[in-house]
Amino acid sequence: MEVSLRCGALHRRGFLLGAGAAALALHPWLARAASGDYQAMILGCIDPRIQEPVHDYAVKRKLVGQYSSFTIAGAAIGVVAPAFDQWHQAFWDNLAASIELHNIKSVIAIDHRDCSAAKIAYGDASIATPEVETETHRKALAEFRNKVAERQPRLKIETLLMALDGSFVSLS
Ligand SMILES: [Zn+2]
Repeated sequence: MEVSLRCGALHRRGFLLGAGAAALALHPWLARAASGDYQAMILGCIDPRIQEPVHDYAVKRKLVGQYSSFTIAGAAIGVVAPAFDQWHQAFWDNLAASIELHNIKSVIAIDHRDCSAAKIAYGDASIATPEVETETHRKALAEFRNKVAERQPRLKIETLLMALDGSFVSLS
């Protein structure tokens, strides 16, 4: 009980100090173990089919060993869709922590085609054709960019939609 009360107090303080500072207060070992100067956070979906394409993308971008990773159903859709509102704060807290701990300069959101989370969030029709699907992700990624710009104005933002074969379009 005492522990959860203390966590609550730290969490509330976290909104004033920044979630990264709260993470450091809760886990001082994180600062020792993981502080440094890294490039990016990659936000991706939990879908098993997209893990390797996302990793290959990181290899091509020479980001291996240089990025933190946040993986959640729908990628940017998991962060902005009302259907998943219980998840949103976890992303913002982790992004703030990675900025503080890892000094990342950018966030790269990688949505993907044939994503079940898009169907859950916006309905089956939202990904019924490749064109409609592209527009669904274009809107979600635009909302994602707006929210990141509001909360973390110094962070660079890249947003893309990847097919299961690893080909992708930039949607910015
Ligand atoms: Zn997905």
